[in-house]
Formats: sequence, C-alpha cells, structure tokens
Amino acid sequence: MKIYLDNAATTKMSKTAMEAMLPYMDMVYGNPSSLHSAGQEAAEALSKARQRIADCIGALPDEIIFTSGGSEADNQAIISAAYMGRQRGRKHIISTAFEHHAVLHTLRKLEQEGFEITLLDVHENGIISPEQVQEAIRDDTCLVTVMYANNEIGTIQPIGEIGQICRIKDVLFHTDAVQAAGYLPIHVGAQNVDMLSLSAHKFHGPKGIGILYAKRGTALTPLIEGGAQERGRRAGTENIPAIMGMAAALEEACAYREDHAGRLRALRDRLIAGLAQIPHGILNGDAVNRLPGNVSFCFEGIEGESLLLLLDDRGICASSGSACTSGALDPSHVLLAIGRVHDIAHGSLRLTLSEENTEKDMDDTIEAVKEVVAYLRSISPIWRELVNGKKKFVIK
Ligand SMILES: *Cc1c(COP(=O)(O)O)cnc(C)c1O
Repeated sequence: MKIYLDNAATTKMSKTAMEAMLPYMDMVYGNPSSLHSAGQEAAEALSKARQRIADCIGALPDEIIFTSGGSEADNQAIISAAYMGRQRGRKHIISTAFEHHAVLHTLRKLEQEGFEITLLDVHENGIISPEQVQEAIRDDTCLVTVMYANNEIGTIQPIGEIGQICRIKDVLFHTDAVQAAGYLPIHVGAQNVDMLSLSAHKFHGPKGIGILYAKRGTALTPLIEGGAQERGRRAGTENIPAIMGMAAALEEACAYREDHAGRLRALRDRLIAGLAQIPHGILNGDAVNRLPGNVSFCFEGIEGESLLLLLDDRGICASSGSACTSGALDPSHVLLAIGRVHDIAHGSLRLTLSEENTEKDMDDTIEAVKEVVAYLRSISPIWRELVNGKKKFVIK
C-alpha cells in the first residue's frame, strides 16, 4: 500500500468532483457560447458553477474568472495590477522572498519592463509581519502580493491585516491562496482582498483549472486574446467539465473544512513529534501557525533527493520541498528565505497530508524516515566529519 504524502504538489480527485464532471463530457457537451439549446444548457451550468464558487469565498459571480490553474491566475493578477498602476504612474510592487515561482518569475519579468520590486524578508518562523508591509509601502506602490500559506513550509501569513493596510493606503492586494483552500477560511470581503488565486487540483478537483477572483472595478489584462469569454478577460472555450468538477470540489472542501483541518492537525502533530526525535533535525516554519497538513524538516548531513528515492522504495511518496523542476539542484528558495544555509536546505523533506491518511501512515512514515536518515548518514562523508568534529553541526 502506498502512503501518499505529497498533497501540496497535487491531490487525488474526489469522487464528488469526478461524478460532477461526467455528465459534461457525455450528455451536456455544448459550447456555452452557442445559441442553441445544447449550448444554452452548458451556459446555464457554467453560470451556476460561477455562483457556487463565488459563494464559497464571499465573492460575486462576475468577480470569478476561470483560468487554467493557479499559475495563470497569479500571472494575470500581478500583470493586471502592474499595468493599472503604470497608468497612474505607480511602478513599485511589494512581495515576499518565498512566494511560488508563478509569482516570483512574473515579478522578475515586470522588473525587466521597468517596475521596481521589493521582496520582503521572511522571519525564521516563515511568517512576515503586517508592519513589514506597512513600512515598505510607498507613494508609487501599485500592488502588494503575499501568499496566504506557503507551499513548502506551510506557514500562514496574516493576510487579513495586510489587506486592511493595503485598503487604507489605496494599494491593490493580491494573495495566492492556492494552498489555503479547504484548510483556512477565505472571505475576500472580510479579508480585504482585491485579487486571489485558487487551483482546483490542490483541493481534490481536476488539474488544469483554477480561478482568479478580481474585485469589481479591477481592470484585468487578458493574457489570452480571442473570443469574448469571461467578459473579455480570458478568451477560449470554457473547460466546462473541469469547472463543474472544481465547483463540486470547492463546495466539498469548504463544507468539511473545520472537520478536515482538525483531523489533519492531529496527524500532523503526531508526525512532527515522531520526526523531532531524529537528532540534528529541525522543523521548518512555525510549529502552530502552519497548514493543518504540512510537515517540513531539514536533517543535517543528508541529501533530500536520496531520502526521497529511498522513501519511494518503501512506498512513501514525499517531496524534498525544493523546486528541482529545472533539473538544477539549487536548494529551495523558501528554505534559503527563512535562513537555512545551503548544506542544511539540501537535506529537506516535505510531507503534506490529506483526509485519507491514517495514524498508521504517520507511524509507518516516522519509522521509515528514521531508518533511511540513519542509513544515509552511515554512508555520508559529511556526516563522518560532523561526528569526528572536523565540521561543526549547524543543527543541534
Ligand atoms: C500549486 C501552486 C501554484 C500553481 O498552481 P497550478 O494550478 O499548478 O498552476 C501556485 N501557487 C501555489 C502556492 C501553489 O501551491
């Protein structure tokens, strides 16, 4: 039996989501832009799904734009805010050093277009303070973008307070809430959010679909030109089956949010307590103010990739948390942002839970990680130097 502990990367689709999709691949396949009854039936389903999704986050239906996922939503939010700002002579953007690459790379592109970017430092506990945002805002700031919860270390940012500061200072506020959906409360009005990104495959919906919430009056720059879908803000025939799956998954995630979060927190803390017994290891990010299903550790003297492969041999799907997507073995920018040195950041392990995990999964994982870490250390030259005292331990 596999133990899947990589839910921050993607989740298994729920039965509810799958069942919600099937009729729209079979019976109701019309194009919602078509005027005939088959098209209009699809259009009606689309309109209802938009309303249901809006209800889950306290938005209005016309504030919901369907995108291909979290990355596209992040790109469109940031680019739109930047271009709106430029029209008013404001070309300064504030974000943090540990955002998702969909945010950081978009900001880098804007920097080449002449925007000035301030990336706030993250405290060692993986949290930024509202005061940092307050102090960084200038007269020419057009956007603050801060993620709700970090995808590697799970730490939760005070987005409600940041939103309030931005509202007072008349600066747009975007939050990447991709990791938060289903686990943390989301209410765009109460949290003073102007733009927010979600991705269905992170909450047991299908891949390749997400939403951008944009408060009424936000002038969005289309990233894809073509037809008039999404009120001219995103061209292309709507992915109705995926949208129906996403709506069902989001409703389910929101309805069971507190139940799931409570159960996951207990499993998470059991896993953290077990892994904390491994010497020269450290929990990444605040122990309390973190996603209910996120566990992230660094172990000194080992290499995260080897740890992953050996855990995979034992049927445990984990992640190093480091973004090795480029094939480069650069340590994670998130771990560097919270002050982990390169050597330590390389020895990272991220375990992210779902509702399907059990206490036994946690106990089996603790045993497996203990054994694999001990084995890797036994063959590691660096570990030998640490034990001999030739090198000094960084983690006590
Ligand atoms: C997964 C993720 C994304 C990207 O979402 P996709 O739908 O895969 O494009 C963006 N931000 C965060 C925080 C994520 O975890």
